Amino acid sequence: MILPGATLGVLGGGQLGRMFTMAAHTLGYRVVVLDPDPHSPAGSIADQHIEGDWHDHASLQMLGEECAAVTTEFENVPAESLEYLARFCIVRPDARAVGISQDRIREKTFLQEHGIPTAAFVPILEPEDLDAAWERLLPPLLLKTARLGYDGKGQRTVHALTEARAAFEEFGNVPCVLEEKVSLAKEVSVVLARTHDGQVAVYPVAENRHVAGILDTTIVPARIEEDLARQAVDAATAIADALGYSGVLAVEFFVTEAGELLANELAPRPHNSGHYTLDACITSQFEQQVRTLCGLPPGDTLLLAPAVMVNLLGDLWVRGEPRWDRLLAEPAARLHLYGKREARPGRKMGHYTCLSTEEEAALACAERIRRRLVNSDER
Ligand code: AMP
Repeated sequence: MILPGATLGVLGGGQLGRMFTMAAHTLGYRVVVLDPDPHSPAGSIADQHIEGDWHDHASLQMLGEECAAVTTEFENVPAESLEYLARFCIVRPDARAVGISQDRIREKTFLQEHGIPTAAFVPILEPEDLDAAWERLLPPLLLKTARLGYDGKGQRTVHALTEARAAFEEFGNVPCVLEEKVSLAKEVSVVLARTHDGQVAVYPVAENRHVAGILDTTIVPARIEEDLARQAVDAATAIADALGYSGVLAVEFFVTEAGELLANELAPRPHNSGHYTLDACITSQFEQQVRTLCGLPPGDTLLLAPAVMVNLLGDLWVRGEPRWDRLLAEPAARLHLYGKREARPGRKMGHYTCLSTEEEAALACAERIRRRLVNSDER
């Protein structure tokens, strides 16, 4: 067990790294952040900021020698970098789990091999693969790059083979998956913490609404049948067990119009849809990241009140600084800003969470704030 007072590291200095750093500080750990950006949200509050790249062995060695254990806020850290880092300190989650979740082909194949249903898909490694895939799948289809896609980037809906060929070329002929676009009734996610010795603590299923491919709102508990929620929790737990996972893991699912549950993606880290846990659960997902990294038992995931989380994207700043006074006038709303200097469209600048004894009341509070946050004279 790594106890308070020790030094922990995180690869990546974005908002997830920042909230990890805050949780670690609360428990009395020191934190070192590795990120190339001198103004990164986590680097600016950490005890030490190594301005370096996760490809760079010298920076990784410096981090590894400074820390008792290191985690990541980002699934695109090369698995090789995690293996190198593991020469110097404990690294959780391990390179294999991160390697699987950073590559859609490996990820979906892994899910399939473990009996977890996904949307039908075919790996595309070269243009010729599209012809055979087209025979096997039912359009409309989505072509997604296997790597480095996030928030709906690196994916295109295609209705004809010619369109798929053009999209594949436009993506630079990199490995992709072609998958069936399903009719979504809802999107949900499960966040859990698993320790290296197999203890699992699962948060309630969250219901997620996306706008233009980016998470907009999370509602907890998800408004789905109990049986479906149990299936989602069981599937996420089975995935974590099959990976021999240690850390915080998020699994995103689709609920189809036909009532099926399909796994879409894994995130080997705390997840945007788990931000509500900061305010609404006994233990936040970031404290769980600290605990699992340090070999401590997971904290209680009990939901203390229904919660609705809304992301604050840079778009909100087009008319000037949002009206924080109006948000802060709502006593049951909690504001989290990530300390980013520049507001760009689509950039996650912060979030807020509304709590209430009733889910619908939390939702009404979140929507009231949304309408009033834009800088205008209308109230
Ligand atoms: P992803 O990058 O795979 O998480 O996809 C981003 C968003 O695109 C998802 O949250 C869904 O809203 C939508 N999406 C992705 N794949 C599919 C699919 N096979 N069918 C329907 N919608 C999808």
